[in-house]
Amino acid sequence: QLSERLVRVANYVPNGAKIADIGSDHAYLPCYLCIQDDKVTAIAGEVNEGPYQSAKKQVEKVNLENRIEVRKGNGLAVIEKGEVDTITIAGMGGGLIATILDEGKDKLIGVKKLILQPNVSADLIRLWLREHGWLLIAEEIIEEDEKIYEILVAEPGDDTELYAEKTKEKLLLGPFLIQQRNETFKKKWSYEIANWKRILQEFEKATETDQVKQKRNELREQIQMVEEVIK
Ligand code: SAM
Repeated sequence: QLSERLVRVANYVPNGAKIADIGSDHAYLPCYLCIQDDKVTAIAGEVNEGPYQSAKKQVEKVNLENRIEVRKGNGLAVIEKGEVDTITIAGMGGGLIATILDEGKDKLIGVKKLILQPNVSADLIRLWLREHGWLLIAEEIIEEDEKIYEILVAEPGDDTELYAEKTKEKLLLGPFLIQQRNETFKKKWSYEIANWKRILQEFEKATETDQVKQKRNELREQIQMVEEVIK
């Protein structure tokens, strides 16, 4: 039984895709995709021994060794250039996902779709995509087991138009998520605002230095910007 979060990620994988699932743990996502679509093939990448072994066991259990190769290694180092057309990276922080993409840039030639599911800091991924010629084409925000997750889907392309206005706001909140402004989105950002306000109070108590002043102003601006969007 795949989690709702991974089902949503799987929904963006094209028919017959050659995927690499990086940080695959139990290889649940590649197994699910191969069972759903008999044309899909996958590489499941894992850097840690425990999850790597779990992935191998799971693939053997469902008899998919001929279609899913489990490889041990860091990020995109497990794939060769041109080997896959779709990459999924799910269940990690946005900073780590952006680092994996950055360190594996040369492996992205020929890749047509990135499906990324950060637990936090999706803005770091949006920024990386912007700077490296990837166009964000869809976003989702979901809540599962009292945690909120985002899904970002990108294809090679020019995003000048997408970010032409309100760039800062869109990078932080997500251009598509802003448009949808659903309840989960409002919940996430209300929670963040409350958190920032607590930090702001601390800054208000702190000794006034240029740095404190600057941080405080940045926080105030950020709070105001996000409040405007979710109100
Ligand atoms: N993708 C699965 C999911 O969404 O349910 C598993 C998520 S699990 C929380 C994160 C996995 O990523 C762990 O198994 C961890 O070992 C692996 N991981 C972390 N950094 C990695 C890296 N640089 N390269 C490959 N795997 C990595």
